Formats: sequence, structure tokens, C-alpha cells
Amino acid sequence: MTRSDEYDVIVIGGGPAGSSTATMVAQGGHSVLLLELEKFPRFRIGESLMPATYWTLDRMGVLDKMNCSQFPQKHSVQFFSKSGRGSVPFYFSETEPGPSAQTWQVDRGEFDLMLLNNAREKGVEVFEETRVTEVLFDGDRAVGVAARFPDGEIREIAATVVVDASGQAAMLGHKLRLRQGDENLRNCSYYTRYKNAWRGEGRDEGATLILYTGEPRTWFWYIPLPEGDVSVGVVGPIERLTEGRRDPQAVFDSEAASCPAILERIEGAEQLHPVRALKDFTYSCRQMAGDGWILVGDAFGFIDPIYSSGVFLAMKGGEFAADSILAALDSDDVSGVRLGAHAEEYAEGVEAMRKLVYAYYAPEFNFAKFLEQYPDVKDELVNLLIGNVYRKSVTRLLESMEQFCELPGYEPFRIEEAAAN
Ligand SMILES: Cc1cc2nc3c(=O)[nH]c(=O)nc-3n(C[C@H](O)[C@H](O)[C@H](O)COP(=O)(O)OP(=O)(O)OC[C@H]3O[C@@H](n4cnc5c(N)ncnc54)[C@H](O)[C@@H]3O)c2cc1C
Repeated sequence: MTRSDEYDVIVIGGGPAGSSTATMVAQGGHSVLLLELEKFPRFRIGESLMPATYWTLDRMGVLDKMNCSQFPQKHSVQFFSKSGRGSVPFYFSETEPGPSAQTWQVDRGEFDLMLLNNAREKGVEVFEETRVTEVLFDGDRAVGVAARFPDGEIREIAATVVVDASGQAAMLGHKLRLRQGDENLRNCSYYTRYKNAWRGEGRDEGATLILYTGEPRTWFWYIPLPEGDVSVGVVGPIERLTEGRRDPQAVFDSEAASCPAILERIEGAEQLHPVRALKDFTYSCRQMAGDGWILVGDAFGFIDPIYSSGVFLAMKGGEFAADSILAALDSDDVSGVRLGAHAEEYAEGVEAMRKLVYAYYAPEFNFAKFLEQYPDVKDELVNLLIGNVYRKSVTRLLESMEQFCELPGYEPFRIEEAAAN
């Protein structure tokens, strides 16, 4: 059973957001309990990292393990038009000097297990196969959780701060009715893995490829994984991809048929598992923190997989949250304002990413044409693809994109609501 009935912090969920928040709070000397529903390693989609994840991995003390891993190194991302013509690859090292220019394509089962074991090593008490059934409140203030442990017993455990890192289950977002979708990005995805599919060479071997199909707002990812495997998935509008079709394999096959650049890369390869599907994954919560609780990672929001920003934002959000929690515990003030102190800064980075996502889906947008017209913002564009939204300015890029194409408005997050608590 748990070592105690009361913790400084309880974290719900052991994905990248939960592991990173828990690790950094424990590194600050506080007691942390992490409860995870599944037994790791478990499957998760989201294999391509952004280079800026480097700094959070470094702070958590896992860079050595990453450097010794079998995960392919990712040096660039390349976009393909519907005719199959490739843009020049965006090599991260042309903009970012040093080791942080390179990142990895990970098997999420192994990667998430590595992060969870690292959390254990840093002093976090971890229980797997344990479902948090409820966040307990005293009035408006979260005071702990109820959880079903592997022996079937449901126990209530108290905490000064409850961190919701439950991913797309978004436990508190649902309970407090904070979750709102993004009408501009109502997408779904169908994906699988192949063995012995095409691979690039040299430093391009681990590149992420993004390939437009002949259909509007529809694209494939092509992500090289360890042991010669490749992750391949299609993303497109829910209405069109699901209309009159129920079998995920049939949807995947017919979308692949309108993307010759994908067909030629997977020809003759062995499909490793049935096609899986996810839909309506883009949303955001209107509030990030309240008295005694805070949301991190997908439990707060997720944009769209196009630039592989999910794990980076989950871990960077975890780092921000850990700093706010440490400051709140030190000052004995775990109000929503204190726990959400980083909300505005975090949201700025997310919104920069969101604008680049909107641009990609705008009918008139095309990377080559955009850079022809605005060559001076290429470094800022690569910085955004690196994930440098909290380290470098991307203001000129965002202004140029807004001049180049019409971007929809979206108000995902109202800071004053967090402050109202
Ligand atoms: C189609 C698609 C493709 C994607 N591709 C990429 C990509 O290439 N690169 C990238 O960076 N991101 C990608 N993402 C996003 C990425 O998958 C997520 O952003 C990332 O997994 C978020 O991490 P997290 O820790 O917030 O949530 P998760 O990784 O989902 O972890 C949440 C954990 O909480 C646990 N949990 C849930 N409920 C409970 C409960 N009640 N009690 C206890 N535990 C619970 C779950 O079991 C899970 O382990 C993609 C997303 C989609 C939809």
C-alpha cells in the first residue's frame, strides 16, 4: 500500500506530462504519489519528439539514457505536396547550434516507461494499474483523490495539490466542464506500423515526413522507429474520413490510395498491427488551475499532430507546473492564481504553435511559396518546428503568416478565469 495517507502532491497519470511534473516536484524535496491506470509499457501514439524537449529531459536527468537508447535520431522535418514533391528538409542544426538540434523518434511504450522509472528513481512513489476514480473536493478546493488499487480496494488519499495528467481522459476538464473543442480543427486519425518500409539515408534516416494527399486538409505522417519499423498515419476532417465508412483499415487504405508518395514508401512492407483510430482530439480547457488543482499535458489541451508538438508541450507544461507547484508549496498558498502562475506564458507558446497549425490547413498556404515571399523569417519558422517557442521570439513569423493567409480566430483560454479563483 501507499507509504502515507497524505502527500504534498498526487499526480493522476504516468504519461510524459505526469512523469515530468512528478519528477521535478520530487527533485524539489516534496512527497509525490503518482497513480497510473495501465501497466507500462503500454501503447501510445505520439512518437516524434521536438528538439526543444532536450532541455526538460536534461533537467529530469534522462539525457544519458536517451543518448544510449535505440531511438532513431531526428535531425529534420520535410513536407511533401500532393504531387509528391518535397520541400527542402528543415534541418534543425541550421538554426540551433549544439546537441539540442537533434532529437528522437521514440516508441512511446519504451519512452514513457523510461520516464516513469526515472520518476521512481527521483523519489516519486508510483502505482500502476491504479485508477483514480474521483478527485475529492472540500468546497472549491481539491484535497485528494479516491483510487482503486490493484487489489480492488478503493482508498481516499489526501494531497495539498492534485495534478491532473490523465491525458485525453481529461478527468477534471470533464468534471468541471472546462473542455472546449476547436471547430477549426475537427480532425480524426487512422494509423498503423510497418516493418521493412522505405527509409531515408544518412542524417535523413530518422526524418519526419509530412505528405499531403490529393484530398483537402488531409495528410500522412511517416515516422521511422527503432528496429526498422515505421509509424504511418493519416489525419483529415472527421466528416469526410468517416462518412459511410466504419472499417478503419478501409479508411486508411482508401486515403493512402490518394497519396502515391505514401504508397511507394510502404509497398511490399509488412503491416504490424490493425489500423487504430482516434478522433476529435483538438480541444483546450478554459482554465488551467484552481484551488489545490492543476491541469498538465493533454488533460489541459491538445492542438493537432501536424508538427509533433504534443509530447514537448506535455513535458514543458509539466516543467512549468512543477515550478508553480514548488513556489506555491513554499509559500503555503495553493490557490488557483498561484498554481496557474505560468498559465499566460505557457498559453503564448501554445498559441504560436496553433497559428502555424492553422496556416498549414489554410488553402492558400504552402511552405515554399511562403518562404519565397518572406525569406527573412525562415529561422523563426525552424525555431517553431524545433519547439523554441519559450526560448526565442517568433513574432515576425506569426505576423508574416497572418499577412500571407487568413487564419481563423480561436479563444481557447481565458487567463482571467484562472485568476478569478
Ligand atoms: C493522431 C495523433 C498523433 C500524434 N503524434 C504525435 C507526435 O508525433 N509527437 C508528439 O509529440 N505528440 C503526438 N501526439 C500527441 C501525444 O500523443 C500527446 O500529446 C501526449 O501523449 C500527451 O502526454 P500526456 O502525458 O498529457 O498524456 P498521455 O500520454 O495520454 O498519458 C496520460 C496517462 O494517464 C493515464 N490515466 C488516464 N486516466 C487515468 C485515471 N483515471 N487514473 C490513473 N491514470 C489515468 C493513462 O493511462 C495515461 O497513461 C499525437 C496525438 C494524436 C491524437
